[in-house]
Amino acid sequence: MFFGKRGKDEELETILVETEVFSCMDETCIGWMRKEFVSDDLLCPMCGKEMIQEIRELPKI
Ligand SMILES: [Zn+2]
Repeated sequence: MFFGKRGKDEELETILVETEVFSCMDETCIGWMRKEFVSDDLLCPMCGKEMIQEIRELPKI
């Protein structure tokens, strides 16, 4: 009697969670930050413009 070997799929699943982030208003700028790391003045770390809050699905940290 043979038992088929069960291939264990150990895929490293990336768990995405909905995360509050602030992203730069400037469409040409890729600057954004997680809410918990954002600076007090809510300015983009890349260009210094204002950032707006949004929800992104990001890997859990
Ligand atoms: Zn920016």
